[in-house]
Amino acid sequence: MNSEAPAAGQAKARIDFRCLSEGCNGIVEFDLREVAGKDFQPVCPVCRRSYVLDAELRDKLERMMKLIVALRNSEDILGDSAVSINVAGGEVRVPYALLLTRLNTLITLNIGDTPTDFHLWVEPSSPETFR
Ligand SMILES: [Zn+2]
Repeated sequence: MNSEAPAAGQAKARIDFRCLSEGCNGIVEFDLREVAGKDFQPVCPVCRRSYVLDAELRDKLERMMKLIVALRNSEDILGDSAVSINVAGGEVRVPYALLLTRLNTLITLNIGDTPTDFHLWVEPSSPETFR
């Protein structure tokens, strides 16, 4: 496990999924950046089952990471953008940055043949983003 603090400006992205072992409620969690390593195998903290991520899955997760990095690089722009939602009696403006980071992202990818929900937890690279 890499315990080094991420470099400034680097996105922190944790990803987790529920262990696929029957009767196990363990949450397998890892850093999205670790996925790039070919030998990377996340391990369930409860039943110690290890998961081999195939090339396709690693590719998807890696592209997800790149997407997050791109979003991080656009934080200053996104910080000034908002989604406008019309409601009774007026309009609500929701900053993009809030949408991107405060809501949990869920993606469903296959581990082997099993569709698995991955939860993505992203932190802003700078706490200044949210004022
Ligand atoms: Zn498990």
